[in-house]
Formats: sequence, structure tokens, C-alpha cells
Amino acid sequence: MIGIMGGTFDPIHFAHLRTALEIAESCGMEQLRFIPGSVPPHRPQPKASAEQRWEMVNLAIAGEPLFQADRRELDRQGNSYTVDTLSSLRADLGTKLPLAFVLGMDAFLAFRSWHRWQDIMQLAHLVVMSRPGYAPDPQDWYGELLAQTTCELRSTAAGRVTFLSVTPLEISATKIREACKAKKSVRFLLPDAVYQYIQEHSLYH
Ligand code: ATP
Repeated sequence: MIGIMGGTFDPIHFAHLRTALEIAESCGMEQLRFIPGSVPPHRPQPKASAEQRWEMVNLAIAGEPLFQADRRELDRQGNSYTVDTLSSLRADLGTKLPLAFVLGMDAFLAFRSWHRWQDIMQLAHLVVMSRPGYAPDPQDWYGELLAQTTCELRSTAAGRVTFLSVTPLEISATKIREACKAKKSVRFLLPDAVYQYIQEHSLYH
């Protein structure tokens, strides 16, 4: 099974990395791919350029054999829709390989506003990670799915949803950008190599 973590990664930080590793291990993934997006449809434009975000992702994951970076969203024209990314991965990897799209609870709570969200669920499993400050509502459309808290996804290629608890880390890229702007140190919120890159390129000032 391959895990996919999409995001702006503006910048990538320890919560992305630690939660991804926990999910990859508990689901028995052979690989987890970080796929930075070029033009996230629902969000303000990233502060760092696409190439800078790509370089920071690569610096962050260096040396972790489970992690890969995939630049297909940066090389595509137009909006980075997850449904297109998953279709393109299916074209490369075939229809049989289990694929799991990993997202935080904050992202999942808005999932039904995503472009062709039903098709996303046909293309991959969804693995929803807990995130401090974002609680699911049992009355909402996904309420019955909340009981699914184990990662038994390997027997089918796509279509299941599971909710996994990960180490709660209250780190966000927004807070990191704000701290940089306020001239406060962001050291120890992200890998040293990324911290140095931000300093060398005067990002987020
Ligand atoms: P921003 O503050 O700019 O919105 P972010 O820190 O939320 O950024 P993204 O690049 O938007 O980071 O997130 C990529 C993915 O990682 C999303 O699915 C998001 O839910 C998840 N994620 C980010 N931070 C955490 C966290 N602290 N705990 C759990 N999941 C997280």
C-alpha cells in the first residue's frame, strides 16, 4: 500500500513528518509520498514559491526510507485537484494497488467541498488523522464511519475511510509563517535543514 499526503507544505513541519510516519507504520505502508500542491483551489496562495516548497519537502524527508516526494502537482498546469493527482497515480501504478490518501481532521471536515470528492473515494482509501483543535461531529455525514479506527485497508484498492489517532502536535504552517514575520525563532518546529533554508532564503518575512 502506498500513502499519499497532499498539502501546501508552506513550509513542511514536524507535525506533517511525525504523523505521516506514524500512519505509514500503523497501516503497514511500503511508501508514503508527499505531494506538494501548486495552486490549492480553496486557499490563499502560498508565500514560498513552488520550487522552494519542493526543496523544503526534499530537505525534510532526506534519509527516511519510507518517505518519497512526488512533484506531479507542481509539473501540471492549473489547479492541484486531488482527484486529478489520484487519477494520474492510478495511471502509473495500476488499479489494483491499495492507495491511501492521508489527511488531517481539519482537511477532512471540509472534504465534501473538494472537487469530485466522491471520485476521490473511488480512487483511494481515506486515512483521517486526528489534529488538535478539530473534532468530528458524530451527527455529520461521516458519523457512522467514525467507528472505523483501524487501518485494515490492504485487502482492497480503494473506497474505505478510517480515523486514526496520532501524537497530537499543535504545529501549523500558518503559525510558523506568523512567527517568522514577528522575527521569532521557528527552530525545533521543523527539521534543522528546513529551518536553515528558511533563513538562507529570507522566507516569510
Ligand atoms: P497552513 O497552516 O498553511 O494551513 P498546515 O500546517 O495545515 O498549513 P498543510 O500543508 O495545509 O499544513 O497540511 C497538509 C496535510 O497535513 C493536511 O491534510 C493537514 O490536515 C495535515 N496536517 C497539518 N498539520 C497537522 C497537524 N498538526 N496534525 C495533524 N495533521 C496535520
